[in-house]
Amino acid sequence: MTLVDVINLFDTDERCRELLVRLRWSGGPECVRCHMPVVELATAKQLFYCKDCDYQFTVTAATIFNDSHLPLQKWFLATLLLCEARKGMSANQIKRTLGVSYKTAWYLCHRIRAAMKEVDRPMMDGTVEVDETYVGGRPPRGSKPGRGTPKEVVIGIRQRGGDLRFFHAADAKSGTLAKYISENVSQDVEVMVTDEFTSYPGAMKKTGLTAKHKTVKHKNRVYVDGDIHTNTVESAFSLLKRGIIGSWHKISAKHLPAYLDEMTFRFNRRKNANLFLDTLRHMVTLQF
Ligand SMILES: [Zn+2]
Repeated sequence: MTLVDVINLFDTDERCRELLVRLRWSGGPECVRCHMPVVELATAKQLFYCKDCDYQFTVTAATIFNDSHLPLQKWFLATLLLCEARKGMSANQIKRTLGVSYKTAWYLCHRIRAAMKEVDRPMMDGTVEVDETYVGGRPPRGSKPGRGTPKEVVIGIRQRGGDLRFFHAADAKSGTLAKYISENVSQDVEVMVTDEFTSYPGAMKKTGLTAKHKTVKHKNRVYVDGDIHTNTVESAFSLLKRGIIGSWHKISAKHLPAYLDEMTFRFNRRKNANLFLDTLRHMVTLQF
């Protein structure tokens, strides 16, 4: 789907709604309250009526679109822009590109981002890399960058050739790392690769994965030792950092988890031609 496609195919609210109906109810429209089949009102197109509970609604009822008065085409265009921007897109850029107010652009980004969330997260196996990074405000004058600065901690877990997950963590202590590892990595994993950071041996012990743990020694400038490297999770971190610097500028700790979800949702579907439709589907099916 390109920008030209969205402009041509979804030029009216009616056409946008037709697509949303198909995405929301693959088996035909059903009541948003009692889930019984419904009919479209003869008097008002695209308004559905449930005779079981005497309720009228549209396809955007009880969804992320809520009762937005913004034309649906603007929603579609903003969604496509966010899907296509590998490093993310700022509300300011959406504002300029779509010709909406900053407030509207911010609201659109916020809502669409909320839909870019994984609903199904199977346990990872094969070769899994774990690393942590620090993002956010500048460290205080005189403090060293990296570990030990009062920035926000992001833990990255990536199955090589598979999914990437980012978590906003309270710290990078072994107990915290162990929690995210045990929630995301299967006991059947073949290899766990990390760098030599002192929290990892403890985290592996706590998760019972010590025997599968391999360490890459950055200190000795050994960055790639055959298959023992953390390059794939590190490349995802560098994309995250470029996104934060280039597109979002400053993000607050409060909004960081949503940005991380957006980043990984897009990253995990970067070779998927249906990213735009997947996102729209989430926008009419996820519970908010
Ligand atoms: Zn009903």
